[in-house]
Amino acid sequence: MSLPQAVDLLISGGSLVDGSGQPARPGTVACLDGRLHLGDAAWQPAAARVIDAGGQVVAPGFIDLHSHGGLVILADPRHEPKVRQGVTTEVIGVDGNGYVPFHDHDDLLAFVDLNAGLDGRPAIDYDWSSVASYLGRYDRGQSVNVAVMIGNSALRIGAIGWDDAAADRAALANMRAALREAMEEGAFGITSGLDYPPGSYASTDELAALTAEVAGHGGFYHTHVRYELGDRFLDPFREAIEIGRRGGGPVHLTHFYHRQTHPGSPERLLALVDDARAAGADVTFDTYPSEWAATKLVIQLPQWVQAGGPSALKQRIADRGTRQRLREELAVRGAAYTSAAGWADVRLGAFTQPDLLRWESRSLADVMRETGRDAVDAICDLLLAENLGVAQVTSGPWSETLPHFIRHPIGMVGTDSTFLGAKPSPRTYGSFPRILGQFVRDERLLSLEEAVRKMTSAPAARLGIEDRGLLRDGYAADVVVFDPARVRSNATYDEPRRHPDGIEQVVVNGELVVDGGSHTGALPGRALRHGRR
Ligand SMILES: [Zn+2]
Repeated sequence: MSLPQAVDLLISGGSLVDGSGQPARPGTVACLDGRLHLGDAAWQPAAARVIDAGGQVVAPGFIDLHSHGGLVILADPRHEPKVRQGVTTEVIGVDGNGYVPFHDHDDLLAFVDLNAGLDGRPAIDYDWSSVASYLGRYDRGQSVNVAVMIGNSALRIGAIGWDDAAADRAALANMRAALREAMEEGAFGITSGLDYPPGSYASTDELAALTAEVAGHGGFYHTHVRYELGDRFLDPFREAIEIGRRGGGPVHLTHFYHRQTHPGSPERLLALVDDARAAGADVTFDTYPSEWAATKLVIQLPQWVQAGGPSALKQRIADRGTRQRLREELAVRGAAYTSAAGWADVRLGAFTQPDLLRWESRSLADVMRETGRDAVDAICDLLLAENLGVAQVTSGPWSETLPHFIRHPIGMVGTDSTFLGAKPSPRTYGSFPRILGQFVRDERLLSLEEAVRKMTSAPAARLGIEDRGLLRDGYAADVVVFDPARVRSNATYDEPRRHPDGIEQVVVNGELVVDGGSHTGALPGRALRHGRR
């Protein structure tokens, strides 16, 4: 390709880490009409804007394989927590909890309510039903691109309803047909979140059938596994790998990590992936580099309480008999689930009711102590008062074993970013810079080139995006410029809403969305379509 003589944006003098894993090299990157052109360090076309990237790294924009930004981004399209990290594309519709397709509008609104503590309940027009209309919402512009996955909960609600019922042949055919249409409209695959009803009511075989459907269209199965299964350590991941085997499709284990309370070693978890790959399976994973997990408080309730959807759930948890049964189940689960000490680890957030705002960023143990309620009454009363929209942050990955996952050659990054409450998990603002600052520069756990590959070309390949994830002529112009000496996360458990240092410029589809470390207000992102440029 011959180089253009005039370009929109020129980034010169930087060290190119092109996403392939190859060693950094000097070079010039130009953007013209949203596409990249690469030249040597001496190339100097006319440019509307020139960025001197001396001393900086120039890399493809980062791709996040797990984001809860799907709804909040429609209300706040600047999406600053993510673009300030260098994220230019994120995967939404994760954990089985996608908001499309919904052909019954009441079902869509009920599903938003059920997940309000996880994905938020922003005041937007919920005016889509098909995947095509939903993707169109993201084409109106936000600061990042989105790749939409289909959650199996939506398919199940459409075909079976909200109950804990098996899929018969007709329901399975219905779900597969909806999924086929979704893939043809541009979805990237199917997700599950097997702690989250109603998608969690799906059997291994049902999920294998959905995996087979997306695999036939070049898609993949992205799973938050069934953590309660079997030994609660390896068995949940064995089921995921088995789903891929039976369905004949690729499997991606999302937020794959080692918890301090797990019975075995991280090597045994990673050996599952290595062994499956050695046997020919296409298995990959992502990890978030943070010790703090986050989800909705509803997850504390057993799945039978949630059957039938949010109205049935709210009726049950208002009932004294149901609460008594919950108490008995918690007693069986052990002391950590009955004493205030165990609940001190659950930090609450996202309150909206004036009389509950005092609990923002406080623990469930605080609520129990200061209101004289036990755990069951505290959880149920808070959920009812907030129409289920309460978020929680708890301890997650174990610091000591996170490096095993971060440096594993098959591992990628999924921030699992949630955006609710005063204090979300620090992973929301800090994931990519923490890897570049702490794990690459300070601890030398992996090379910069390898880390960037895991953030760019590896996830692009997993998604099947053919024109992003590398600095290559003709690729989409998603670029991040950062200072390798200064890049660092500033987000902590106590102060999680701090932006990172050292991410200087972020370019999405050829437009600067971060410039000099500040958001420009530009909204050039759109919905990507699988199989299309
Ligand atoms: Zn998640």
